[in-house]
Amino acid sequence: MSSVKKNLEEIKGNIPSHVTLVAVSKTYPTEVVMEAYNAGQRVFGENKVQELCEKRDQMPDDVEWHLIGHLQTNKVKYIAPFVSMIHSIDSLKLLQEVNKYAHRYDRVINCLLQIHIAQEETKFGLSFEECTDLLKSEEFKALKNIRIVGLMSMASNTDDPNQIRKEFKSLKQFYDKQPSLYILSIGMSSDYKIAIEEGSTMIRVGSSIFGKRNYA
Ligand SMILES: *Cc1c(COP(=O)(O)O)cnc(C)c1O
Repeated sequence: MSSVKKNLEEIKGNIPSHVTLVAVSKTYPTEVVMEAYNAGQRVFGENKVQELCEKRDQMPDDVEWHLIGHLQTNKVKYIAPFVSMIHSIDSLKLLQEVNKYAHRYDRVINCLLQIHIAQEETKFGLSFEECTDLLKSEEFKALKNIRIVGLMSMASNTDDPNQIRKEFKSLKQFYDKQPSLYILSIGMSSDYKIAIEEGSTMIRVGSSIFGKRNYA
């Protein structure tokens, strides 16, 4: 059995059935990603638009593609025809652009709002307050070709599990107060077990499935 298949089966055996596994295939060659496909995985996530489009061309049509990384407004048009979910919405302007192209392709695109919970300054995302304001705005309510179905976030890059748990807990509390959201996308290779304990319904796991990443 390939190690990708073995890793995948081990993770799937460890997560409850209400948690969706997004296999994060960024930087891995298509042959390796296809090992996961051949083992039954259908939901894949990429963090860059260009790589997402390339892999989509090379892989079977029944893959559900999720964009999990930062999205620039000028790149929305490339993914709007096919993307299943965008995890990284962090402004009304971006959401309006997604809505525009979704309308053009006669689709409704499922989106998550990215929330900033980590201590680092560098990570993208909205504060709880900005998120609330966006969801209450008339401009948002006017958008008919996008659907906000949940929240996505990343915990601090730290070895301290208590810090990670604290951040996930505060996000879960906020999430529970939002009507009609049903996806909480938290948890990566290093912290998905904590994320599931704290209420994750969607985990994004790359290196624990595909092995060490080579960015070169
Ligand atoms: C790369 C990435 C992941 C997966 O990270 P691993 O540590 O390889 O599991 C999850 N979410 C986002 C937004 C990513 O960019």
